[in-house]
Amino acid sequence: MKVLVIGFGGREHALAWAIRKSPRVREVVCAPGNGGIAQIARLVNANQKDVNDLLRAVVAENPDLTVVGPEVPLALGLVDEMQRRSLAVFGPTRAAAALETSKAFAKRFMQRYKIPTANYAVCATQEEALKALELFHLPVVIKADGLAAGKGVVIANTKKEAQDAIAGLFSGKLLGSVETSVVIEEFLQGEELSFLVLSDGHNAVPLVPAQDHKRIGEGDTGPNTGGMGVYSTDTMLDPQMREWIMHHIVQPTIDGMAAEDTPFVGVLYCGLMMTARGPMVLEYNARFGDPETQAILVRIESDLLDGIEACVEGRLSNTEFRWRPGASACVVAASQGYPGSYTNGHVITGLDDAAKTGGVEVFHAGTSLLDGSYLTNGGRVLGVTAAADSLESALGLAYEGISRIHFEGMYYRRDIGHRALKSKVN
Ligand code: ATP
Repeated sequence: MKVLVIGFGGREHALAWAIRKSPRVREVVCAPGNGGIAQIARLVNANQKDVNDLLRAVVAENPDLTVVGPEVPLALGLVDEMQRRSLAVFGPTRAAAALETSKAFAKRFMQRYKIPTANYAVCATQEEALKALELFHLPVVIKADGLAAGKGVVIANTKKEAQDAIAGLFSGKLLGSVETSVVIEEFLQGEELSFLVLSDGHNAVPLVPAQDHKRIGEGDTGPNTGGMGVYSTDTMLDPQMREWIMHHIVQPTIDGMAAEDTPFVGVLYCGLMMTARGPMVLEYNARFGDPETQAILVRIESDLLDGIEACVEGRLSNTEFRWRPGASACVVAASQGYPGSYTNGHVITGLDDAAKTGGVEVFHAGTSLLDGSYLTNGGRVLGVTAAADSLESALGLAYEGISRIHFEGMYYRRDIGHRALKSKVN
């Protein structure tokens, strides 16, 4: 089989890596890919933000299956266009991806199907939002309706902060584009958990859970990022709680989307807050998470491609994935300045050394390859990932690997998994 992966981040490197392991795969092509993906796949040019250009690449390559990594092509309706042309593709249609692309849609959907989530108000004007704000306690969460790459959420500790966020979203000052609708949400407390499933539109099969570290600074301080590191363990979710989430959150979501004639085929990512009242949905994503995918896929023992194909062909029932027992961890190396401004083009050294650390996989996120040298080409540059029998060992390997890598201004958090390690000690 020939498989085309769309995207250029660490998630797509991990996807290409896992798909390539399938004995049925003859070739993996990635559009547009990055320096690291070029080691395992042929790269073709395509503009992520242009459906026609992506379609052109798909038609030119004529793969047996296309796997869409990022949310932007989903939001633009790439899957709809491909289905119209009877091209096999893994990912939700534009209407199904609304679970991610419109927070107002997602909140109303959850309310319709009694899926546990924070109390909220969807407001179409600043005036309406300021009035609704009076109904919430502090801290309160203010969210842009649309995609904002993690930057559209403000946790306001004072009324003034909340009012400023509302004004900033409606005026366009906060995100650079004017929001036509804003969600105000009750602040929830607890541990966050990324719970991902594969779905064929009717059935869902869970992947191992993971926990991301969104803040740039150690101790979970500073601004939010795309994700600075992830861990996944067998013990972070007991089987009963997993079943509860499948029964009360995942299946009602899949059933609700099917009932509304927008069946969800692809990866449904439930961002959960494990509150004292039970798990509640913070957000849905309509695709694999980044960097969750890196930590999840180093643990998969089943053939990922089999699962993906079962989704596309609507025959996922009775599928179960086998996982390497124990744990995994992914530590992200970022460019100095990220998530603010940073410079590209710094030479990366030590990659071969890091890859020689037993059990370590270095997934490239923002790199390019020039005359045989890898250069930085993004805010998040690498995700050094390892699986092992325990979280301590997985983290030890990932940190050993990353310590061998160098580029100017390289930054990484040294406390990935800190909460899990602390709760073990206590
Ligand atoms: P991303 O693009 O990074 O997935 P997003 O922009 O879609 O994020 P959310 O996931 O909804 O936004 O929120 C980002 C983060 O804000 C969450 O991971 C969580 O830490 C925090 N957050 C969001 N909603 C709440 C809430 N109701 N209570 C407490 N924290 C929240």
